[in-house]
Amino acid sequence: MTASPATSGQKSVAILGATGSIGQNTLDLIRRANQEATGTAHDGPYRVDCLTAGSRVEDLAALAREFRPRQIAIANEGALTTLRGLVADLDCQVAAGKTGLDEAAAGSSDWVMAAIVGAAGLSPTLQAVRQGKTVVLANKECLVCAGDLFMREVSAAGATLLPADSEHNAIYQVFDFDRPEAIESVTLTASGGPFRMASLDEMRRATPEQAVAHPNWSMGAKISVDSATMMNKGLEVIEAYYLFPVEKDQIEVLCHPQSVIHSFVTYKDGSTLAQLGSPDMRTPIAYTLAWPDRMAVPVTPLNLGALGQLTFETPDFSRFPLLKIAQVALQRGGLAPTILNAANEVAVSQFLHRKIGFLDIAEVVERVLESSESFDFGGIVLENLEQVMDVDARARVLATEMTAKLAVA
Ligand code: NAD
Ligand code: MG
Repeated sequence: MTASPATSGQKSVAILGATGSIGQNTLDLIRRANQEATGTAHDGPYRVDCLTAGSRVEDLAALAREFRPRQIAIANEGALTTLRGLVADLDCQVAAGKTGLDEAAAGSSDWVMAAIVGAAGLSPTLQAVRQGKTVVLANKECLVCAGDLFMREVSAAGATLLPADSEHNAIYQVFDFDRPEAIESVTLTASGGPFRMASLDEMRRATPEQAVAHPNWSMGAKISVDSATMMNKGLEVIEAYYLFPVEKDQIEVLCHPQSVIHSFVTYKDGSTLAQLGSPDMRTPIAYTLAWPDRMAVPVTPLNLGALGQLTFETPDFSRFPLLKIAQVALQRGGLAPTILNAANEVAVSQFLHRKIGFLDIAEVVERVLESSESFDFGGIVLENLEQVMDVDARARVLATEMTAKLAVA
């Protein structure tokens, strides 16, 4: 089977994190659009140039067979030989490890979906940015751990950055970029997650299974736990600060359990503009895939009459301290968001492996931020990727020590 280059009129796409929830949703839209045009998944308005994954070789190989990319890459170097064997009959370059992922991201595609989870996605996403591509950001951790650096690189390369995160995609659709001074505030809505109504005692005993069972969205494990602690909204406040020309104190959070209003922008004249839709990530992804056009998406149509009412609550910081901790980290600036993100990644992973309790996640993040004063926080600007990864690594060591202490306590 031959991988052919994109023809004129085709959009050439790369999907970093193709085997994950966002990757699958993106490929679902591409599959449908191509099949409607040509009867096959691999040919049509979208030409899949590159797919990457963390370690799921069988899934990546199956996608390569279906979409016939020119190139695939797997983060786990130990899986390279297996992956090569699985796609030996395909005309497809296979790479592995950090270099493999970075090169794949910098390849010949015009449009890149950045959907690797965590700070691991920063380096390949930056490679795509440096080529001046259209980069669609699902991976919010990129902006949390290296926001200033990332946005400087976007400007320097003239890359186009489109947000896939539903809240930021909503704001992007109603934000008047020509008149940012006319904006009073942006409000990120939050579902409140599976523990919105839970007592602290119930949260203390929460299992990974309960934490990943999100009421409205089907997502990867890490972001599902972040939604349960509401750290996800904290990360999104930081993400919004870097994506939109607003001040830190102009970003607000409101709980909206139905997840229908995806976020809104309030203007100084009293107008509030919002974007609404069924909670299905294919809508914001489709916005970025077809941008600046619109494409048809088979989502459940929004039926406000059947819904009857939309409700709102202010967030409860006593049960969801990570939202406040993230807001404080943004105000503090310097290295704080980088440390916050790294500590949270470690703590969530330890919780998913049943090493610490659900409420310990916030405890770990708070303690790591407190004990990393020696990192010389204030006013520091991270100049390059190596510095970010160094701070990230040091914070991970501290977080691992903290979780070990909590695990035996
Ligand atoms: P997921 O866990 O389902 O998928 C993650 C992908 O990244 C997989 O393809 C995995 O193989 C790959 N990966 C994991 N570790 C890696 C590593 N070390 N190196 C390279 N690749 C690696 O996660 P997801 O839910 O698809 O989320 C992806 C990103 O999108 C996250 O940053 C998340 O916050 C963001 N996001 C997700 C949703 C959603 O609805 N799922 C919504 C908004 C934003
Ligand atoms: Mg979101």
